[in-house]
Amino acid sequence: MNRIRASISFGMIALALVGLGGALAGCSGASGQDPALEPWFATDPLVEEIVSQISRENIEVILKGMESFETRNTLSETESDTRGIGGARRWLKEQVEAYSPRLDVYLDRWVSDAGTELVNITAVLPGTNPALANQHIILGGHYDSINLDPVREGDTYERRDPNRPAPGVNDDISGVAVAMECARVFSQYDFQKTLVFVGFVAEEQGLVGASLLAQKMKAEGKEIEAVLMMDMIGSSVRGGGAPSQPTTVRVFSDGPMDSPSRQIARFMEMIGERYVPDQDVDLIFRKDRFGRGGDHTAFNREGFAGVRLVESNEDYNNQHSYNDTFANLDMDYLMRNARIEAAAAATLALASASPTPMGLGRGEGYDAQVRFMPAVGEGVTGYVIALRSTTAPRWEEFVWVGMPFQVTFPHKDIDEIMVGVAAVSGAGRPSLISAYLR
Ligand SMILES: [Zn+2]
Repeated sequence: MNRIRASISFGMIALALVGLGGALAGCSGASGQDPALEPWFATDPLVEEIVSQISRENIEVILKGMESFETRNTLSETESDTRGIGGARRWLKEQVEAYSPRLDVYLDRWVSDAGTELVNITAVLPGTNPALANQHIILGGHYDSINLDPVREGDTYERRDPNRPAPGVNDDISGVAVAMECARVFSQYDFQKTLVFVGFVAEEQGLVGASLLAQKMKAEGKEIEAVLMMDMIGSSVRGGGAPSQPTTVRVFSDGPMDSPSRQIARFMEMIGERYVPDQDVDLIFRKDRFGRGGDHTAFNREGFAGVRLVESNEDYNNQHSYNDTFANLDMDYLMRNARIEAAAAATLALASASPTPMGLGRGEGYDAQVRFMPAVGEGVTGYVIALRSTTAPRWEEFVWVGMPFQVTFPHKDIDEIMVGVAAVSGAGRPSLISAYLR
């Protein structure tokens, strides 16, 4: 723990950090912190309230409702109201429309060259701050499913027949149901930024629905602060007798070490574990599971930052199978992941944007001088500088600097540290951290 002496003049601040030598580690916990960091580590009562309203009952309605359509293969039938992907998406749209008139709910439709309808289910909750309304936070999962099980005794469909039953409850109505439950709860509140809740189509055919939305938003000049994708978040038992981690969930993020996606992953760990202390958020510094993919990657490809939340316990026997049913979910585990998603998304949407780094220099010669542009957003009460060694995976030290936009750390060698900056919009509302990369 470092002690800080501060002297302020003309909007600049010089901080003398006492006892810096090797003191970067072990300083990120809330206990024993500089009291000035209280707003950085605080829980926000409003976020607690939002998280507490995420309803298991409602999530189960969507899980079972979507399972009842038997298959949601992207190429399955679309006319029936009780079977196939068309009826499923119309039913889900009706459910979400009933949540709140504040949600703009629509089917976002494309047609492939082969004539297949590609339809994402989208609900938008507009941001209330005009300066941040073009900053979007996407919560999503894919509602399509696939069954690749070998043909078995009594099968009435060929293996590749799109109308073959493919329940796809964990993969990925678990993600869609949580996104839409967040839409329901969040629609009762005001957020500075715009929230977009999406059920994506054709993930199983190569991230098609997510790619279409990412390209569309890019073409329209929309900015996306974070994509918080959920894909398979409901199983707490690993297959094959491998040891399970029933209180752990993984967040995959593409690199490099200080990519915007990694900052989102670190934010999810910090906020997720703050509001859901009985679940560990496990950071995996890899874009997705080895050799496999997910819809967040479609956004990464268009230059948008985003991560994937996915269970730590995969059972390959249940994936893309007859066995991917509601009965094989662990609802307690799924609910913890739902609360992590809700806490991270709500905190981000309530907070300001992150400040823009304007330079990391040597000051008078041997100091670390940090400059940044003020953050866009309402209610900013101060800034925090984040520090860590260049090899450390997580930010190790946070320093409250108040309101100046230039800070000097005497005798701190900028060659040997990573530096980031974040804004705080009142207690428990940190922004994402922006890293100084050059
Ligand atoms: Zn999936």
